[in-house]
This record gives sequence, structure tokens and C-alpha cells, in this order.
Amino acid sequence: MENLTNINVIRELFEKHGFSFSKALGQNFLVNPSVCPKIAELGRADKDHGVIEIGTGVGVLTNELAKRAKKVVAIEIDDRLMPILGETLAEYDNVKIINADVMKIDLKRLIEDEFQGMKISVCANLPYYITSPIIMMLLEQRLPIDCVTVMVQKEAGTRLCAKIPSREMGAVTVAVNYFSQPKVLFNVSRGSFMPSPNVDSCVVQFDLHYEDKYAAADEAFFFKTVRAAFSQRRKTLVNSLSFGLPMDKSKVNDAIGEAGLPLTVRPEQLTIDELISVSETLKNRM
Ligand code: SAM
Repeated sequence: MENLTNINVIRELFEKHGFSFSKALGQNFLVNPSVCPKIAELGRADKDHGVIEIGTGVGVLTNELAKRAKKVVAIEIDDRLMPILGETLAEYDNVKIINADVMKIDLKRLIEDEFQGMKISVCANLPYYITSPIIMMLLEQRLPIDCVTVMVQKEAGTRLCAKIPSREMGAVTVAVNYFSQPKVLFNVSRGSFMPSPNVDSCVVQFDLHYEDKYAAADEAFFFKTVRAAFSQRRKTLVNSLSFGLPMDKSKVNDAIGEAGLPLTVRPEQLTIDELISVSETLKNRM
């Protein structure tokens, strides 16, 4: 269905299906007609690619993806949107909607079942309340995805693309730079959404290379360490790790010392290689 950025069309759909926005689900729908075609084109929605979309809303981006991609599998948590999507995506036979929480779905299995023989990309206007958890989840599973293109709020975009080390970095910065090099493609003003949020957004993209730019011996434990390290901003590394893992402070102190770092160091002062060293000296003390 065309015109899904037209406010009157959206209002009509809402009235017909008795739908109202859920703030808790981060429902800010795109109404700027130039944004979705741009995301679809830059996000590799083409005849070689199967695309995973996270959070469809009324299907405004899904439409643009379906026009271009070989196949689209879109995951949407809100079951009230299902009848609307039945209407707005009716003309496409290459779209599958899954009514589920993306954090609870087995994406490896979904990819095996739905995208045999295709390259895979992820395109989404992410719900802002779980931007980082979704990105970390996509990264940590080493899914066979070649490119991720996502709209996020400005602050999340700054965090994703922050330098390492820097005060702006967080666990998600480390995770994304472990596998890739994120970049901001373009900015999107708050007025492009309905309802309009209090902040602007941007579209961030990263290609995934799993050919071991970095190599933690135990990757799952490395990511657990990184999450714990950045769980309490501005605390020292020893305090964050002993609280977040959790682990005895004296053992954490020993591990930090063995990694060749001062005991007063803060997580935002560390490089990825230093974080890998700390995760390895910690692992030996578990
Ligand atoms: N793609 C649409 C657009 O651009 O207008 C909607 C984007 S809106 C920012 C985020 C969407 O994600 C909403 O439709 C919301 O219901 C959905 N959502 C929120 N949490 C989710 C979750 N855990 N799993 C899947 N979808 C989720």
C-alpha cells in the first residue's frame, strides 16, 4: 500500500482498526516520505538479499523493502498491528510477518528456515527503548548478516559511533567495533515521526566482518565482561566488574594488575585489546 507516510491514511487505518500508539513500545512511526526509500536502498534491499526488519509499525519501511528485496521477514511485537499489516502489505508475496519479541526469537533458526541461499541484511527503525540490547544481540550471535542499517536516536548513534577509548563509548560501542566499523549515513529530524519524539535521530550502518579483527579466547565471557564494565557509568573498572559479574574485588584487582593496567582505570579509558586482556585474566580467576 502506498501513501503510508500520509497522516490522513494512517489516521484512517488507526480508526478502522481501533489502534492507538504505545509509548512503551517506542512507537514513533516514520511519516517523512524520503526516509524509507533511502534506508531500503542504502541498506542493500535488492534481489540478492533477504532482509530482516525489526518493528514494522504500519509497514511503511516494510513496503519499501518488499519492493526491492528478494524476501523480507519482519518481526513486530504488537499484535494490534497484525490486521493493519494484513492490509498494508497485501500486495506482496515476498513478505512474512512474525508477531514476536525480537529479543526472544531464535534468529539463527529463522535465517536457516527463511533465507536459504540469500545474502542477508537487517534494516529497521528501532524501538528506542531497546536499541543497544537489540544491536548487542545481533552482534553476539555472529549471525550470517552482511550489513545492518538502523535508525536510532541521536544519543544512541553517538554512542554507537563513538571513538574507543572515549567518554562517549559504551558496551555497544565495543561490541560493534569488535566486528565492524559503524558510520552515520544521514540525520533525520524529529518532525519526520508521528508522534514526534523530543530528539532527532540518525541512520547508522555497519558491515559485519567475522574474520577476527579481534579475537577473544572466550567471546561470550568477553561480552559479559564488557557489559559489566559499562553497566555503571563513570565508576572505576574494578567497581563495575566486581558488581556486574559479580566477582570478589580482590580477584578483580589481581586480574586488572595482571593485564598491566592501573587499578584506578575507568572502562572508558580502555582499548578493545585491553578489554580482551582483562576478560582473559578475569576468566582465569573464575
Ligand atoms: N518501522 C516503523 C516505522 O518506521 O514507522 C515502526 C518503527 S517504531 C520506532 C518501532 C517498532 O518496533 C514499533 O512498531 C514497535 O511496536 C516495535 N517493537 C517494539 N519493541 C519490539 C520488540 N521487542 N520486538 C519487535 N518489535 C518491537
